[in-house]
Amino acid sequence: MEKIETLIIGSGPAGYTAAIYAARADMNPVVIQGLQPGGQLTTTTDVENYPGYPKGITGPEMMEDFKAQAERFGTDTRWGMVTNVDLSKRPFKVEIDEKSHVLAETIIIATGASAKWLGIEDEKRLNGYGVSACATCDGFFYKGKDVVVVGGGDTAAEEATYLAKLCTNVTLLVRKDKMRASKAMQKRVMNTKNLKVLFNHETKSINGEPGTVGVESVTAINNLTNEEINIPASGFFVAIGHTPNTSLFKNQLDMDENGYLIIKPGTSKTKIPGVFAAGDVADHVYRQAVTSAGTGCMAALDAERFLADQE
Ligand code: NDP
Repeated sequence: MEKIETLIIGSGPAGYTAAIYAARADMNPVVIQGLQPGGQLTTTTDVENYPGYPKGITGPEMMEDFKAQAERFGTDTRWGMVTNVDLSKRPFKVEIDEKSHVLAETIIIATGASAKWLGIEDEKRLNGYGVSACATCDGFFYKGKDVVVVGGGDTAAEEATYLAKLCTNVTLLVRKDKMRASKAMQKRVMNTKNLKVLFNHETKSINGEPGTVGVESVTAINNLTNEEINIPASGFFVAIGHTPNTSLFKNQLDMDENGYLIIKPGTSKTKIPGVFAAGDVADHVYRQAVTSAGTGCMAALDAERFLADQE
């Protein structure tokens, strides 16, 4: 069975940054790219907040740069999905695409998280053209415009109040008659003048055409009366939570109640020596490319020290 010194699962900013550091430290990293090579950023259009790109860059191009930089130092990037892992003993046995197996001395988990979507057709059609799941990433493009946010939890409250600072009007669609967000966040929402909450409202359609900047409007429906309203808006933000991609590690690694991996604070260490986590898979708070890249670097350095201690 093939032996791999440093196996990195996931190919977003965390995975590739770990690979850059690991490759330069002669740790022979192999990156298994996963279902969405390049990660969540490949579904974004422009990235303007990643340092080093003063003119901005598209998400897919940026991830090509990350990949090229990792490969420049010898990273072996491979297509495929990790379909099973056995963390009970080292080297760790890892199954790829349900057929082949490798043995890994150390593993860096950078499988990320996936934004939850409503599941309506318009969302897919207009993703990146006015539809987004990240206000911090894309809110800037709607400065001085009107936007709609969907969700009733802390993420929605936070994104809506963040957008209210940039946008003219924000409408928050909450499907129940109350929000799930913490009382403090709800208070902040209610005290924001240009933020209007529509309870018992769901999204019927997002209106506009791909290719243009922003959408035109959102049709919402009152789920008690079936009444429809048309809300003029350029941006549509889905903020109904994220799902960390951790099902592979269930019953093997510690997770919080939402499934995020628990790591030793200030490190990338999971409870199993030799297994490290980086990026959104262990972070439901910041979720930025730059913070993911930072923790990817930490994971490679932690793995390097771990391997050195084994010698
Ligand atoms: P949550 O699961 O807490 O909330 C999701 C919200 O989206 C709920 O209001 C839910 O409605 C709504 N929703 C789900 N599906 C749909 C749908 N199809 N259509 C319309 N609405 C829908 O997710 P969050 O991301 O908000 O929070 C996740 C965790 O992270 C929480 O523990 C939260 O406290 C934490 N967090 C903390 C922050 C902070 O402390 N600063 C910031 C952000 C998150 P319903 O209530 O009807 O189910």
